[in-house]
Amino acid sequence: MNSTQVTLLDHPLVVHKLTLMREKTTTTSKFRLLLREISLLMLYEVLRDLKLQEIEIETPLETMTARKLHGKKLCFISILRAGNGLMEGMLDLVPSARVGHVGLYRDPVTLQPVEYYKKLPERIEERLSVLVDPMLATGNSAIAAAQRVREAGARDIKYVCLLAAPEGIDAFSQAHPDIPIYTAAIDRELNDHGYIMPGLGDAGDRMYGTK
Ligand code: URA
Repeated sequence: MNSTQVTLLDHPLVVHKLTLMREKTTTTSKFRLLLREISLLMLYEVLRDLKLQEIEIETPLETMTARKLHGKKLCFISILRAGNGLMEGMLDLVPSARVGHVGLYRDPVTLQPVEYYKKLPERIEERLSVLVDPMLATGNSAIAAAQRVREAGARDIKYVCLLAAPEGIDAFSQAHPDIPIYTAAIDRELNDHGYIMPGLGDAGDRMYGTK
């Protein structure tokens, strides 16, 4: 059964910034800045269900019972290379989060993702793992990365992307029905080259000016 929860993060600020990112005239530096800003806004919603605990504090005037985050630590896991852009803004919001990276390339013959890099935080099973990649296209990289995060012991995983293709959502949901997906938009389809349409192009290239 496909029970994956897909949450569309369509706050007007997110929608506006995403539109600017899609435009082909948007420069590399502006694209990077927008991605950083948008990731911060998205994470704010992704972490809406974090638990709080009550503690006693002293204000300059009196003692009060206040609340702060309870227990569970965070880690952000970037799917290289475009995931880094999304992760940077998230670190602005939660600077104490641990960071992991998973690098995968597509084998030209089998078309399957092949791991070239993996470094994940220790005791990942005690953390909420937020797996990030701007584009959920075929879903192959996201599926393989989530598998590696699971194998490392993570039990609580959320997947965050900027744009998702329906094909990618279907594939990811089938492979990992228990990992919720958060996205700022669900676009029409994938084209024959695996690009999301209408999309924003190659997120890595647009972020780093490599094309
Ligand atoms: N990766 C990208 O960067 N863009 C797409 O459209 C699909 C995958």
